[in-house]
Amino acid sequence: MHKSIIIGTGPAGLTAAIYLARANMNPLIIEGPEPGGQLTTTTEVENFPGFPEGIMGPELMENMRKQAERFGAAFITGWVNSVDLSQRPFKLQVEGHGEIVGESLIISTGASAKYLGIPGEKDNVGKGVSTCATCDGFFFRGKKIIVVGGGDSAMEEANFLTRFATNVELVHRRDELRASKIMQDRARENEKISWSLNRTPVEVIANGMGVTGLKVLNNETGEEEVIETNGLFVAIGHTPNTKFLNGQIDTDEHGYIKVKPGSTETNVPGVFACGDVQDNKYRQAITAAGSGCMAALDCERFLEGSSTHDWSQSGK
Ligand code: NAP
Repeated sequence: MHKSIIIGTGPAGLTAAIYLARANMNPLIIEGPEPGGQLTTTTEVENFPGFPEGIMGPELMENMRKQAERFGAAFITGWVNSVDLSQRPFKLQVEGHGEIVGESLIISTGASAKYLGIPGEKDNVGKGVSTCATCDGFFFRGKKIIVVGGGDSAMEEANFLTRFATNVELVHRRDELRASKIMQDRARENEKISWSLNRTPVEVIANGMGVTGLKVLNNETGEEEVIETNGLFVAIGHTPNTKFLNGQIDTDEHGYIKVKPGSTETNVPGVFACGDVQDNKYRQAITAAGSGCMAALDCERFLEGSSTHDWSQSGK
């Protein structure tokens, strides 16, 4: 029996862990298959306050983990197969660890950027292929960039990237965009954005040093074409990691956990959500960390008011 369990070790989960551990809540943190979350797939993080020279993503996450451990947070690694949130204490089935029981639960499982799944893409993540313009746009100053996607994310990323790039080519598989009118208009008014519509990406081309082009299928002519580029930003959406909840927590139509406005409370008392798993809008390391702090404070207050267990007997 644990007082508090945190699932996920991105900036949200680790910040919650630091706060709960410091408050003697002895959190157990369950790390998934991608410890550290999305930041471990980026290179340098230049916009996390407190690091004027920037810090490498994996190093930032390692530091947060050490900080949580320093205050007594315990970590286990395992895939959470299922949860039973029908009554407290909550029960989790964790691969390699069996059933784990907790009085409260913080969900910080994040969201995963969708990839195209084409040859050359995954091999070049961090070497020209990115799913985060805010994280990596700066590295493409004075270069040519392709953004793939036809939704609001693609419009937003394309607009943002024109601050750095000489030209941003927007590649979309249909001739119609899914993005809202206002976002489309903004992109269309931007002279640095050019359009390759009706083009389906088929292969990322690289020369070992970095990305040099994107091979696309022209859906009008049926011919393959190569669009030259230095960088490829894939902006085809994110998937929040909420499947394991099996509908026991309210989510929006995209699967993001709904929280009470201004808090991290979900519809189940004692279950809190923070970070990208409940944020479809900001998706930044610093906002995730901030919401992790909120979740820890919400959780602490909840436990103070409604413990079902005599903690003096277990020492936890
Ligand atoms: P989205 O609306 O689902 O759009 C994804 C785009 O990627 C679609 O155009 C889709 O093409 C394309 N796509 C998907 N899979 C693909 C594949 N395998 N190959 C090529 N193209 C593929 O996702 P999103 O743009 O991330 O937006 C998600 C939600 O967040 C939306 O509700 C959006 O309004 C919101 N959002 C809002 C803002 C804002 O207001 N500032 C900013 C970002 C996101 P098809 O159109 O052909 O399906």
